[in-house]
Amino acid sequence: MTARIIDGKAFAAKVRGQVAGQVTRLSEDHGLTPGLAVVLVGEDPASEVYVRNKGKQTVECGMASFEHKLDARTSEAELLALIAQLNADPAVHGILVQLPLPDHLNEDLVINAIAPEKDVDGFHISNVGLLATGQKAMVPCTPLGCLMMLREAHGNLSGLNAVVVGRSNIVGKPMAQLLLRDSCTVTLAHSRTRDIEALCRQADILVAAVGRPQMVTGDWVKPGATVIDVGINRIDAPEKGEGKTRLVGDVDFASAAAVAGAITPVPGGVGPMTIACLLANTLTACCRSHGLPEPD
Ligand code: NDP
Repeated sequence: MTARIIDGKAFAAKVRGQVAGQVTRLSEDHGLTPGLAVVLVGEDPASEVYVRNKGKQTVECGMASFEHKLDARTSEAELLALIAQLNADPAVHGILVQLPLPDHLNEDLVINAIAPEKDVDGFHISNVGLLATGQKAMVPCTPLGCLMMLREAHGNLSGLNAVVVGRSNIVGKPMAQLLLRDSCTVTLAHSRTRDIEALCRQADILVAAVGRPQMVTGDWVKPGATVIDVGINRIDAPEKGEGKTRLVGDVDFASAAAVAGAITPVPGGVGPMTIACLLANTLTACCRSHGLPEPD
């Protein structure tokens, strides 16, 4: 194996430590406590784990955590009423509605009901537009975490060829915007892209956000490239025993690591950075709402 492993777990711990220090100063200097409200509708087990982790890490950073668990049959009007209440609550600086929502709720409508300045996921149409036009936005947490790891791995990203595989609104598209903002030459690939392997082999930076276990293999990777694996896929692991499973990314780690210069593992790569960036965004939202300088 040649690639350097980018340790997202350690990087995320460092980011959380910085956020905690800034939260302490905010409290001492201004008597302010950033607050994050997380709304979960229904009982999706994976979402429940995410929400629990978010709440725990929010409190560990010295912030206030407000959890709202709603019944799966909650109506759109009830959910919108809760969001309006959180929008008006001065103790709440960040609002996150855990996706996916049950089918009877319109995700776009719900996300766009969040006050843009409290939209710490960066999914509100205003924040999408602000990011696309190079203005001050709330930036989606997963691509923000990827960008931070890439800057750490490369320093200046200017002029590098970046290929992002996956064009979702929550990962692929904002990732492309962020790389463009850092002056990469960006290609956004998807399920209709022709000869995707050859395209990926031209990438100095390869980001996989597809949702297909181990799709990107070593022969897709340019020697020395940096590979960021966003995928989180649970697959059967009979080697661990009957009925056991394990998490893998969208990248085949062993073959890609033999070619890449640096690579993120799954688990322990992008995942921990996502929550750390959520906490950083909540701190930023709090500072902005009080007209205070933003943390770096
Ligand atoms: P989506 O399903 O919304 O998007 C997947 C994208 O991959 C689509 O643009 C799709 O193309 C493209 N795609 C699918 N199959 C292929 C293929 N064979 N070749 C090329 N492109 C393909 O997924 P998300 O963006 O929400 O998530 C992607 C992955 O990242 C998932 O594994 C998810 O679990 C993970 N994730 C991890 C997070 C973290 O914190 N680490 C956070 C969010 C997601 P098309 O548009 O043409 O259909």
